Amino acid sequence: MKSTKTQVWVRIYHLLLEYWRPRAIFSKTRGLGTPLSLDDHTMRKNSGLFARALLDIDLLSPLPDHLLVECPDFSFVVDVEYEWLPPFCSHCKMIGHELAQCHVIHDQTRVPGPQHKPSQKTTPDDRE
Ligand SMILES: [Zn+2]
Repeated sequence: MKSTKTQVWVRIYHLLLEYWRPRAIFSKTRGLGTPLSLDDHTMRKNSGLFARALLDIDLLSPLPDHLLVECPDFSFVVDVEYEWLPPFCSHCKMIGHELAQCHVIHDQTRVPGPQHKPSQKTTPDDRE
């Protein structure tokens, strides 16, 4: 049984500073995957540009490029960037190759169809 889950470092841009806390970041990224850890810079709040979290992501689920962070009084959108994603085939639903390299699909499209061409014997030269 192949797993479709993988651990990915995710960058979260435009996160308001008041949410720059492990618990807040974990709760906001829960929609993407299972939060595993934050990198040291994010912990020390001195990264500045983006928060970085290691998430356990199921590649079968959609990977949004932004997240809506809902707060009691308002909501804001953060941009999400995946630092590295393994090749994943949405056809085979497995990690290891991409759809473009999928042998299963290529074999299917190469299935031999009916090879019989209707023979055309009605050429003008065919006179007697
Ligand atoms: Zn495949």
